[in-house]
Amino acid sequence: MIEHVIPMTGNRPYPPRISGFTQTFWDGLTEGRFLTTCCAACQKTTFPPKPICPACLGAKVEWREISGRGHIYSYTIVHAAPSIFTHEAPYAVGIVDTPEGLRMAARLLISPERLRVTMPVAVGRMAYEDGSFFGFVEAEGDRAND
Ligand SMILES: [Zn+2]
Repeated sequence: MIEHVIPMTGNRPYPPRISGFTQTFWDGLTEGRFLTTCCAACQKTTFPPKPICPACLGAKVEWREISGRGHIYSYTIVHAAPSIFTHEAPYAVGIVDTPEGLRMAARLLISPERLRVTMPVAVGRMAYEDGSFFGFVEAEGDRAND
């Protein structure tokens, strides 16, 4: 269950290409569920969702809700942004390791001065006017450790 909903202004600057396969992911995100695929044969969970298992090439995958929690493995602050994102710069992007063993690249919706490697994070749904996207926010309770 995605606990964090972040209101965003306007439309997504770079809307995702949604296919018949990825529609399940985007619908789940809007409904507050963070979904990905898991191989029915070898149980390998992958992100982003894939119709074919990259570990065993199995063609039967199942949708599974994942925790949406993790820790920052690495990050950077983007100051010189592509033109469609200049109005949002500076902003952070990073790599998050999840308890499911996934390593995902994503936007980090955390102020640059608070960011640190190993920071606990949780997925947030970015609610744009034309649909959803996702990024990671600082996990609840982490501030108590400051
Ligand atoms: Zn597999």
